[in-house]
Amino acid sequence: MFIFSQRARLEDTWAEKVRVKISGDRIEEIKIGVKPENSDIRVDTLLPALANLHSHSFQRAMAGMTEYRVAGRENFWTWRELMYRFLDFLTPEDIFSIAAQTFMEMQKSGYASVGEFHYIHHQKGGNPYDNPAELSERIIEAASLTGIGLTHLPVLYKYAGTNNQTLQGGQLRFGNSIDDICKIVSMSQKAIDLLPSDARVGVAPHSLRATSPSDIKELLNCYPNTQVHMHIAEQIKEIEEVTDALGARPVEWLLDHFAVDKNWCLIHATHMNLAETIRLAKTNAVVGLCPITESNLGDGIFEGPAFLKANGRFGIGSDSCINISLTEELRTLEYSQRLRDQQRNIMIQGDGSVGEALYLSAASNGAQALDRAAGSITNGNLADLIGIDTYQSSLFALSDKQLIDGLVFAAKDTVITDVWSAGRHQVQKGVHVAEKTIKASYVDTMLTLKERLG
Ligand code: ZN
Repeated sequence: MFIFSQRARLEDTWAEKVRVKISGDRIEEIKIGVKPENSDIRVDTLLPALANLHSHSFQRAMAGMTEYRVAGRENFWTWRELMYRFLDFLTPEDIFSIAAQTFMEMQKSGYASVGEFHYIHHQKGGNPYDNPAELSERIIEAASLTGIGLTHLPVLYKYAGTNNQTLQGGQLRFGNSIDDICKIVSMSQKAIDLLPSDARVGVAPHSLRATSPSDIKELLNCYPNTQVHMHIAEQIKEIEEVTDALGARPVEWLLDHFAVDKNWCLIHATHMNLAETIRLAKTNAVVGLCPITESNLGDGIFEGPAFLKANGRFGIGSDSCINISLTEELRTLEYSQRLRDQQRNIMIQGDGSVGEALYLSAASNGAQALDRAAGSITNGNLADLIGIDTYQSSLFALSDKQLIDGLVFAAKDTVITDVWSAGRHQVQKGVHVAEKTIKASYVDTMLTLKERLG
């Protein structure tokens, strides 16, 4: 397959009249300043696609259901109660059809891949399914239907809070012993063999609230060289509870007790002191920022300038999937910093285009977090690519150097015309190749769920 684009953002530079040869899932050859051939797929401008490094796809179905105020019940923890009640109604078929819709929306907004942080494992009340990996397999099936590049992350969730509190209510669907979660991880690895070879399975101790130090050690001993994703330091209350239980702040404690390295992805890391920020940056782990969800849940604002100054790596994720928008995710990240500091152009080291810096950093670091050889248009990389239409009003007057700034700050996701996930051309001229089937199944699911919710 050949793609011809009028211009493309290659690894280090912009180039015009670019012809990219894709063989299988990889970029095999890039030619610059050439003419298109008749059979080429044409796009206006070609960019590396981003990885969405953190998603709980089922939460997409409750978007808009928790935005009302009841006095005294309006914080993260009351949102979580509602989420637990909601998930009691979900069947394996629902989880499949919601995941397929959510993954398709991600691709249409420009993500080529997703890290699915998957923590519903059991039936309502906590009984395992006959197949313990039933729900993981539904996620893998949804990835297969949509063609998104999946890094599946079965989550170890053992406790309701620090000091090993017992799981209750909706949380019973999450709970596993170490042996049980290892079984699910291993079964997921088998199931993922049915997907193209860019798919991965990693592990995910949920947080320092929901697992114990010995649990994390045991889990990592079972899977020593894999991606490790974990929520950390999202809420002030969590910092206080972890400090009480473990004697140190969450990030500080983790760095003291585990060899955190480039295989790790720490989700949120919102509340760190300066020492934690600098230490975490030096590990080369990726921090998974989810600015739309963090805004929606009132988590707080990530300390961007100090982290970047220490050469920290960040990617982005859609987390609760309340609103799946690549451009809004990046924009919200930068705008939250501006509102806090009352300054402009913050998320960049030194001088340069902030939108471009945000985009390209999130592309390469997101790929690292999901263990994908992607994140830039380079020979040998996976063909995770997007095409955008720069003739739209928000972009047409911009120079190459301004173009990604325009995309991030001024455009809508609708400028994205084409998306390839590891060479699979899943979004073509703005439409997903399985869009009708996926949408129809999602509508059925949501109408049934609406009835069940009453
Ligand atoms: Zn999350």
